[in-house]
Amino acid sequence: MAKKTANLAVVSNKTFEASKVANLQHYDISSALQTTLDINELIGIFCDKIQAFIPHNSVIYINQELDIHFQKGIETRNACSYTLAIEDQSLGELKLMRQQSFHEEELQLLETLLCCLIYPLKNATLYRLAIKMAHTDPLTQTNNRAAFQDSIEREYNWAERHQTPLSLIFLDIDFFKSINDNFGHDCGDQVLHSVASRIKESIRNSDIVFRYGGEEFVILLSETSHEEAIEIAERVRSAIEQHTIAYDMQTLKITASLGVSSLQEKENSQSLVKRADDYMYKAKKNGRNKVVKD
Ligand code: GH3
Ligand code: MG
Ligand code: MG
Repeated sequence: MAKKTANLAVVSNKTFEASKVANLQHYDISSALQTTLDINELIGIFCDKIQAFIPHNSVIYINQELDIHFQKGIETRNACSYTLAIEDQSLGELKLMRQQSFHEEELQLLETLLCCLIYPLKNATLYRLAIKMAHTDPLTQTNNRAAFQDSIEREYNWAERHQTPLSLIFLDIDFFKSINDNFGHDCGDQVLHSVASRIKESIRNSDIVFRYGGEEFVILLSETSHEEAIEIAERVRSAIEQHTIAYDMQTLKITASLGVSSLQEKENSQSLVKRADDYMYKAKKNGRNKVVKD
């Protein structure tokens, strides 16, 4: 009769205790990381949790694709950095810093603990991308109207609370229908893309551009006075006028009409939007390719 044999693993008490501690660490970190889908918060939690095992003064997390640059603490001399990725998805770069150099054992431990971060970070990245897509106009890669509603309320509340200026530019492409009629819808789409690019080139990083409707764009200018907003509107108008679009064997010149409003005392956000829209229509009536303001 065949004798049954079994493999026997003998684990010393010391090894058992060490792996128990490691499992508890992983469990504790993983549970904490499941409480949020916000990327900055996630990195903050991870760094707080590993602080006891891998002391560090500061952390930088960069995700170029999502335009995220998160920093906690002041940059110091010694750093260890990791490129985070899963399958073919890039998850950004994480850098820990402190005055003393990191020991080999600390780095090994950090590498195992990073495994707890990867999947929650992947989920948070996908969530962020989904939000970004829901707020982006696919043709012009500007923010869409849904994003505008959120942003105008946020910027209005900020301006009211901090008593800072807030301005708005409404822009409508002139005779756009005739471009579609004469050159086709594809050409119209190229024009929309080109106008969006001219706007983006002419504004500052802090200004936000939205595609408000078919051939209408809105530029939201936080902490911007009326004079500055007029200057920006004129720069945008001129950039569009100066640009030539080559489509098939033809060249096209485009112009746009713009209205500028700036928040007045006791005014609400709808009134600010309405005034910019009204001024834009006034620019149309006054001959187009113009900026009309208060
Ligand atoms: P005005 O100077 O008075 O603004 O005249 P307009 O021709 O620009 O304005 P109108 O409102 O008469 O026409 C806007 C056109 O924009 C009509 C619509 O078919 C077109 N349009 C809206 N969205 C898109 C789009 O995504 N792509 C293209 N190609 N055309 C679009
Ligand atoms: Mg229009
Ligand atoms: Mg138009």
